[in-house]
Amino acid sequence: MTILNCTAVTCVYNKDRLCSRGEIQVTGSDARIADETCCGSFRDRNEGSAVNSIKDSCGCEKINIDCKARECTYNEHCRCTASAIDINGENASAQSETKCSTFACKC
Ligand code: SF4
Repeated sequence: MTILNCTAVTCVYNKDRLCSRGEIQVTGSDARIADETCCGSFRDRNEGSAVNSIKDSCGCEKINIDCKARECTYNEHCRCTASAIDINGENASAQSETKCSTFACKC
């Protein structure tokens, strides 16, 4: 599994820059630069529909990543093989404002 450091602290799943979701999806099937990827699991903590049970889960350092960014060097059959990645999105209020900064294009 991959170590995930996530700066999208506005996400409901973010716990001290770790993710409490268990698995995330990274999107960007045609991405050729990091800015064209995003965390498809991001959910703004200010959205009214936040699920109560989330607040008690702990952030995990390692996480499964289902990644659609097939042009990335680390992508193998939609699994991320990088030992550690950074998801960025300090002030994000939407998925499109996040990105996988570790993305490295095979192109
Ligand atoms: S490093 Fe590459 S394969 Fe891993 S999550 Fe980021 S974009 Fe996907």
